[in-house]
Amino acid sequence: MSYPKVLVNLKHIEDNAKNMVRIAKEKSGCTTLALVTKGHCSDKEVIKVLARVSGVDYLADARTQNIRSYFTSLGDGDEERGRKALQDSGKGTMLLRIPMKSELTEVVDLVDLCQISEIETIRLLNDYAEKAEKVQDILLMIDMGDLREGLFFNDREKILKTAGEIIELRNIKLRGISVNMNCYGAIIPKEDNLTEFVNIARDIERKYDVTLDIISGGNSGTIYLAEDGRLPRGITNIRIGEGYLQGTESSYAGKVAGAKQDAFIIQAEIVEIQVKPSIPIGESGLDAFGHVPHYEDKGDMKRAIIAVGKQDTELDSMTPLDEKIEIIGASSDHTILDITSSDTDYKVGDIVSFRLGYSGMLRAMTSPYVTREYI
Ligand SMILES: *Cc1c(COP(=O)(O)O)cnc(C)c1O
Repeated sequence: MSYPKVLVNLKHIEDNAKNMVRIAKEKSGCTTLALVTKGHCSDKEVIKVLARVSGVDYLADARTQNIRSYFTSLGDGDEERGRKALQDSGKGTMLLRIPMKSELTEVVDLVDLCQISEIETIRLLNDYAEKAEKVQDILLMIDMGDLREGLFFNDREKILKTAGEIIELRNIKLRGISVNMNCYGAIIPKEDNLTEFVNIARDIERKYDVTLDIISGGNSGTIYLAEDGRLPRGITNIRIGEGYLQGTESSYAGKVAGAKQDAFIIQAEIVEIQVKPSIPIGESGLDAFGHVPHYEDKGDMKRAIIAVGKQDTELDSMTPLDEKIEIIGASSDHTILDITSSDTDYKVGDIVSFRLGYSGMLRAMTSPYVTREYI
């Protein structure tokens, strides 16, 4: 049984990764680039591709499990061999989500560069690093207004005090600061908020006579500035997932210049084709997910059911490659298509393909029901 299936185009991913290196380093003068792997759940074959793209400095993920799997992927099951392989390729690992106190053993073991904000956790991390005889590199997270993680930018005194305390810790090295936008608050990185962010780094450097070499200016929402060479001076790093996986940027939902948008395609098999009305018959209650549905009367339509559903991927994130197909609904295991206008004479057993957006890719690459084929 091989459907539903995701077709992963490794060539497009590699080209897109090289394109991001060009944008980050040549166009906007970043000294390091992190590529983010959570969107494909740290897929083994994708990791192998990224490990050979030069100019990528960190493989980054929100979860330590996914970081461990870098090593097992690159070592074909042998973690130690994988660690050595990644090291030899000149790349490090980066943890994006500020760590849980309960995972600091894993952080010290697996992570080269850790994003973090709570001084209490940083002190504890210092203890773990000391026990492991390691100096742990960190980036202090600063919140510039998006209101997810980080010390709030307005409280300069607290930021400076925290940085000062970090600098005193013997087994922690403060490499720089990091900001994340385009998330909770959907705040767009701009020249003004990023310049203020860089100024925070300069204040820390001046006050404590240190050099911060990684000033990490955001995720795929920052690409639109980087592409135009408008990234404020002083930003030396960006962390990109969507930009190389989907070929899109997340501030204005634009396409990344030179990138391919179809690295992930999902395919599903038709299990029923019947002509039926477009409005359900009988008293209307709640749908399969407890919502009150709404239907538009389009008369009788030729409807196909494909064997894929919300447990496998996300409806809103699927674009049919046959432009004359319309997705009209889905439950956990079924998706219903209107194929009335299509030029193709579909039969039961035929395969239908869709381009997968970010959230659909995330779910499909995490679902145990979806197989993968690499092209
Ligand atoms: C997921 C994540 C990223 C990457 O986001 P994209 O929009 O996919 O580029 C970067 N930084 C942090 C902190 C993240 O959680």
